[in-house]
Amino acid sequence: MLADGRLSTGHAGVLLAERRGSYPLIDLHILNTSAQQGEVESCTRRKVKRLLSFQRYCHASRLLRGLVPHTPGSLHLLDDDYLGQAGHMLSKVSAWNFDIFLFDRLTNGNSLVTLMCHLFNVYGLIHHFQLDMVKLHRFLGMVQEDYHSQNPYHNAVHAADVTQAMYCYLKEPKLAGQLSPLDVFLGLMAAAAHDVDHPGVNQPFLIKTRHHLASLYQNTSVLESHHWRSTVGMLRESGLLSHLPADMSQDIEQQLGSLILATDISRQNEFLLTFREHLDNQDLDLQLASHRHFILQIALKCADVCNPCRVWELSRQWSERVCEEFYRQGDLEKKFDLEISPLCNQQADTVPAIQTGFISYIVEPLFEEWQRFTEPSLLSQTMMGHLHKNKARWSRLRFTHPTSESQMQPHVEEDPEPEEQSLLFTV
Ligand SMILES: [Zn+2]
Repeated sequence: MLADGRLSTGHAGVLLAERRGSYPLIDLHILNTSAQQGEVESCTRRKVKRLLSFQRYCHASRLLRGLVPHTPGSLHLLDDDYLGQAGHMLSKVSAWNFDIFLFDRLTNGNSLVTLMCHLFNVYGLIHHFQLDMVKLHRFLGMVQEDYHSQNPYHNAVHAADVTQAMYCYLKEPKLAGQLSPLDVFLGLMAAAAHDVDHPGVNQPFLIKTRHHLASLYQNTSVLESHHWRSTVGMLRESGLLSHLPADMSQDIEQQLGSLILATDISRQNEFLLTFREHLDNQDLDLQLASHRHFILQIALKCADVCNPCRVWELSRQWSERVCEEFYRQGDLEKKFDLEISPLCNQQADTVPAIQTGFISYIVEPLFEEWQRFTEPSLLSQTMMGHLHKNKARWSRLRFTHPTSESQMQPHVEEDPEPEEQSLLFTV
């Protein structure tokens, strides 16, 4: 490992050699990039980072998206009219029915960068932390670019959506007055970067294909650890925090890690039980930084799985996208004679079946406690209203329009052991 947490070039060579032999499934693009660019050893540090990332360094797609790296003014390539409409949308960014898909189109695929810059301005974070605008733009551009636009779900629009939800939660009356600028900074940064460089397959897939990241992180929170370490790498590469005292930037990196790692859905019950206990005992003291940090973890977890709490039109699109990503993994598994993972079999696992399970075992239990925490706020009531309606709608769709024989014998809700069921949703 290099001092900044990334792997050395020598290590990269070994990893690439290993990849050729054992798990070509999702790394073909990396090998292509390597072949085009010649020897790994001749790469710059930036290229090495990208070789080690899941994503191809794709210059063409970046140009198509109108995003020129390291050019702070790049957003202004957009048509004025579109920028005007995007600006108008930003004036309503705290609305729960904010249409992130439309916002992404209006910003020409730059929803994450545009939203983050706006929210940093709203909160005065640039001034408070004396941030360099060029470095900030550079960092956010790197984060956005390292999301895989070809993923139906885990892409930069999901990150922007989670960031917008996080903003709504930070504005909750119960929280807003208690948060320090550092809390807000951490909450927004963690939301924006929480899935960066997601490969579009889940942890069990990485483990069974013996991907190098699975062994690097010892089969535990593999993806989340990678999202965090990638974020740290980009923070250091951009120099965004380089003007801060070392202990402060180190603390920010650690807190970002703790927030991003909390999104590991296999730790859902651990967080839920602690949250419930705090609410039962009424012992949350938001004057304490550690308690505020815990609530930020919960808020980020809520933001990450809040799709079923959105209005149906938005919620449905996310549901179809996440299932499409599951099915793609299932197709890969089928192609390479691997056992098809739960929820990834397009013939057996329909969108309504997956969604009713996801809502019952993950979303509903979490948001019931969040609603209790907010005492309940107007937003919580709105979200629960959508959640119940959407759940009922998926249930109706599940039994009125079964698309396959196996759908008549649903497996998601058989013998429901909540803990076991929640582990199925390792998204
Ligand atoms: Zn996510």
